[in-house]
Amino acid sequence: MQVRYRYRIYPLPGQQQALAQVFGCARVVYNDCLRVRDEAYAAEEKISDTEVQRRVITLAKATPERAWLAAVASVALVQACQDARRAYKNWFESLKDHRKGPKIRHPKPRRKRGRQSIRLTRNGFALHGERLYVAKVGDLKVEWSRALPSVPSSVTVIGEPDGRYYASFVVQREPEPLPACDREVGVDLGLTSLVVTSDGEVVANPRFYRAAQRRLRRAQRVLSRRQKGSANRAKARHRVAVVHRKVRDARLDHAHKTALRLVRDNQAVYAEDLTVSGLMRTRLAKSVADASWSQLLRCIAEKAARYGRTFAKVGRFEPTSQMCSACGVKDGPKPLGVRQWTCAACGTVHDRDVNAARNILALGRRERLNACGTGVRPPLEVAAGDEAGTRQSAAPAAQEESPPSTAGRTSKS
Ligand SMILES: [Zn+2]
Repeated sequence: MQVRYRYRIYPLPGQQQALAQVFGCARVVYNDCLRVRDEAYAAEEKISDTEVQRRVITLAKATPERAWLAAVASVALVQACQDARRAYKNWFESLKDHRKGPKIRHPKPRRKRGRQSIRLTRNGFALHGERLYVAKVGDLKVEWSRALPSVPSSVTVIGEPDGRYYASFVVQREPEPLPACDREVGVDLGLTSLVVTSDGEVVANPRFYRAAQRRLRRAQRVLSRRQKGSANRAKARHRVAVVHRKVRDARLDHAHKTALRLVRDNQAVYAEDLTVSGLMRTRLAKSVADASWSQLLRCIAEKAARYGRTFAKVGRFEPTSQMCSACGVKDGPKPLGVRQWTCAACGTVHDRDVNAARNILALGRRERLNACGTGVRPPLEVAAGDEAGTRQSAAPAAQEESPPSTAGRTSKS
């Protein structure tokens, strides 16, 4: 199983400068890659990966406009090329392939502001005792908050807009299966309650989130009043970045805890596939909700793989909030405000979310039985480019939007 382990690192001022330089170069190479590919695409010309790389690195270094590329480690530039290639390929395949999954947008150029990163494979970094050596940057101090489970195959060095630096290692980790249990659960994702399970358990969307959101709005208001280019504006921008980080960290922590509990207590966890969820097609889903839902689902998938449990997404063909989980009759659409309803056919009184979760559980079980024999899910793969940020996954961007002001749980109908 491939997983990421992330640590805070403390580059010295000179190393910060060297990092800024290599971040900048990698960004330019990435953007040049996209441009070269776009031009080739527009001219209906087929261009090989090696040719792209030759143009944006080798040839570019020889030009006066890009001569500075020679000053940084070329491994970082080559990786930037590969990240761009992957982002482009994802978009291109999504263009041709209308089968499933959300539409992937054309990769965006990396921006100078915001999160910066470089990705390095084995020939670009090394562990020198307690320190992380990065080519042409030097030995960086790492805060080893936990031990690496194995020798890392690659590292992404990240500079956050709040001024913190991180190293995110891709490592191999052996699964640690938990003793089997016979409980299974379906989960329904919502807004005010993050999760409602088929057992009737409710995991609230934590309150810190709303509080942080208020702080964020205030910080953003201050930022918008500061004069462009001023020192005070830089300070205000930093404050916004800090609030963002706190929201992000708190949400991730909450997702990990929720996921761990669900996976530990249940042999199988079923959730709705967000790409087919009715809610995702509505405007309500934008912003925070989809970001924290996908994050939670990722956490569940990762922990299920680690602890030998099953996690499956249920492709929804039946509207889970309209169908009676007791008798299977479709009772018709329920307006958003309807929290409880009585099945006209069998008389069962349902909580709308618990009922939906029960339907998800039943669908999940059915799909699993149908797929019997191949019941094992493929292990979770770490997309190597994720941290390096094609920004295609858009999670950080989406998280930063303001929260939906819906009072109740939104529901699918
Ligand atoms: Zn019924």
